[in-house]
Parts: sequence; C-alpha cells; structure tokens
Amino acid sequence: MNTKLIHSKVNAILKTIVPIELPINIEELAKKRGLDVLPYDLGQDVSGLLAIKDGKGTIGYNITDASVRRRFTIAHELGHYELHKEKSDLFVDQQFIYRRQNSPLSFELKEMENEANYFASCILMPTDQVRKALEIMDINLVTEDGIKELAKLFDVSTTAMSLRVNKLGFF
Ligand SMILES: [Zn+2]
Repeated sequence: MNTKLIHSKVNAILKTIVPIELPINIEELAKKRGLDVLPYDLGQDVSGLLAIKDGKGTIGYNITDASVRRRFTIAHELGHYELHKEKSDLFVDQQFIYRRQNSPLSFELKEMENEANYFASCILMPTDQVRKALEIMDINLVTEDGIKELAKLFDVSTTAMSLRVNKLGFF
C-alpha cells in the first residue's frame, strides 16, 4: 500500500478546510473535489459506488445505511476517486470492512480496497485531530467507553476508531 501517496492526498484535501472542525464534513469535501454525492437504494449487499463519466465522478451511498456507515462509504469512494480513477471508471463496494476477508478479489482489487479504506480513516480521523482530542479529553483509551466517546466526536463507528487509534500507536 502506498501510504505516502495516501497521506499526501489526504493532507492536501484537509488543508482546504480552515479551521478543521469535527466531525469532518465528508460530503461537503467530496463536493468540493467536484464530485456529486447522492443517496441510492442499493439493496442489502452494496454500501456504495463511484462512477466516473467524462471525467465527472458520482458517489452513491446506500440510503438504508446508518450515518457513520454512509460517512465512511463517502470517504472510501472519495479515496477511489483520488487514488484509482485512472484504473477504472466504476467501483462498486460490498459491505467492505466486514466482508473483506472472505471476498474472492484479485490482489490488485484487494489492494485498492485497502487503500480506499486507509484513505477513509485518515480523512475522517486526521492524525493531528485525534492526537489533540486525546490530549484535551484525557480519554483512557484502554476502556471501551473511551473509544466510544472518541468515535462519537469524529462521527465514525467504534470499530473504525479502534482500528485507527491502533494504527496510530495510541493504544
Ligand atoms: Zn472500494
């Protein structure tokens, strides 16, 4: 995974918001990048998609998903747009976080999914903001309640927050 590229893309986008307020308004950010963001009835198995036509990107998210899920989906699809738009003009995502292990995807597709997921966590839970929140809130991260409180602040799932804090080495 090209984490360097992902960090630089994420930082460039975050720089366009001054000051950064939490939770990150991911829908507005995607729109700022020129994308349309629209709700769709995508059924039970699809969380979101990115379609690119004549250079114009449209993100569709599942209208039946909970808010934290939709936000992650939009961030994930924005990741595909920023990182992978030269490789395909259509990305359709299953409920990716939880089903990824069993999916019969090729290595390259899996890698793109991992990259889009990592992009999504970095943009929804920026390193500096997570660190500051921890300093200010004095959260004891070892507890489940601490993670829950942090997840609420960033409007992400506790699973996503737990993974992020782990990755940042704050656990
Ligand atoms: Zn994806």
